[in-house]
Amino acid sequence: MSHVLTLNAGSSSLKFGLFTKDTAPKALATGLIGAIGGAATFQLEDAQGSVLTRGDMSPKDGTTHASSLSAALKELMARFPDADVRAVGHRVVHGGQHHAEPVILDNETVDGLAALTPFAPLHQPHNLAGIHAAQVAFPDAVQVACFDTAFHRNHPFVNDTFAIPRRFYDKGVRRYGFHGLSYDYISGEMERIAPHLLAGRVVVAHLGNGASMCGMLNGRSMASTMGFSALDGLPMGTRSGQLDPGVMLYLLDQEGLSTAEVSDLLYKQSGLLGLSELSNDMRALLASDDPKAREAVEYFVFRIRRELGGLAAALQGLDALVFTGGIGENAREIRARVCAGMAWLGIELDEARNMANETLISSDFSRTRVMVVPTNEELVIARAAVDLV
Ligand code: ADP
Repeated sequence: MSHVLTLNAGSSSLKFGLFTKDTAPKALATGLIGAIGGAATFQLEDAQGSVLTRGDMSPKDGTTHASSLSAALKELMARFPDADVRAVGHRVVHGGQHHAEPVILDNETVDGLAALTPFAPLHQPHNLAGIHAAQVAFPDAVQVACFDTAFHRNHPFVNDTFAIPRRFYDKGVRRYGFHGLSYDYISGEMERIAPHLLAGRVVVAHLGNGASMCGMLNGRSMASTMGFSALDGLPMGTRSGQLDPGVMLYLLDQEGLSTAEVSDLLYKQSGLLGLSELSNDMRALLASDDPKAREAVEYFVFRIRRELGGLAAALQGLDALVFTGGIGENAREIRARVCAGMAWLGIELDEARNMANETLISSDFSRTRVMVVPTNEELVIARAAVDLV
């Protein structure tokens, strides 16, 4: 039996999954390396979520993406000695204007992805480090890239551009949209469980630590709340979401912040954390009595409702609203608060179904269906790798 490895490389973390290489890939194990470059940690779980290995990495192994991946893979191979990795599928944040599908990576394609680094300076270099590490670890395996931007490449011009001089659009300053692997997965699940809804107007709310919403017509992305970067749209765990660009100018000119400081402020100190001054974790905020925590959650819910109205207008109506991501899949209170007062959009929640976390959580009288569909980005990568190999 041959296998596929999926790899999701962040700034200081690497998530990987081992899958069977067949038409319906099955997960065998998932792993997480954390704090690369610092006190690196490693955890490996089987498909049922039971921990197989957990602990610290030696300082030597945990220094770089390549060294930590190599050490983690040794452990993986010790647990799955028959694993025969023929393909490695990579999550890559930016595919630029042209990648609307996953691709097999050759040197030229990797160079093309490296050239997109100015568009995603905080993420693309880590994805490339993951690719290089996997090329070293599996020199004979086919390397495949799956892009967070790809699902959105069909946006109509009005949802693809900003109203700044056109030369910047031509240079690639566009509304790319992200979380594409998650939306791709949800679209596939909807095709399976509710094809009549997918054929219409669907808004998917991917609400996790990162959060965005996507308006789909007939299963294709028409609009996304995220734009040029993964900062736009909804407030997130630590990211600001939509911001008047004048605020950025003020921070730079009047507060005297450097671009690196503004970047840190907007990516790491804002969103739920910035507003609550308590936590980026929705569970902690919902459990807190602190008025600032309540206001942070209120802002999160308000912005989702505002974007929902905007996306429904872009789609000229709404047939289904789908919740996914850690918050969307689990936070019943957030779902209920988003849906409250949305009767004008044909939304009526069934409280019992919502509390029971059922797949369909709208009432039988609701003109717009409301659903909860757990996402699985790793499976999208594994399937793409199998398809291309
Ligand atoms: P990431 O974007 O890092 O993949 P996740 O999709 O795992 O994030 O979502 C993480 C978020 O989901 C956190 O804010 C966490 O508090 C929230 N979350 C997870 N479970 C629950 C729950 N039962 N109730 C409320 N929020 C939850």
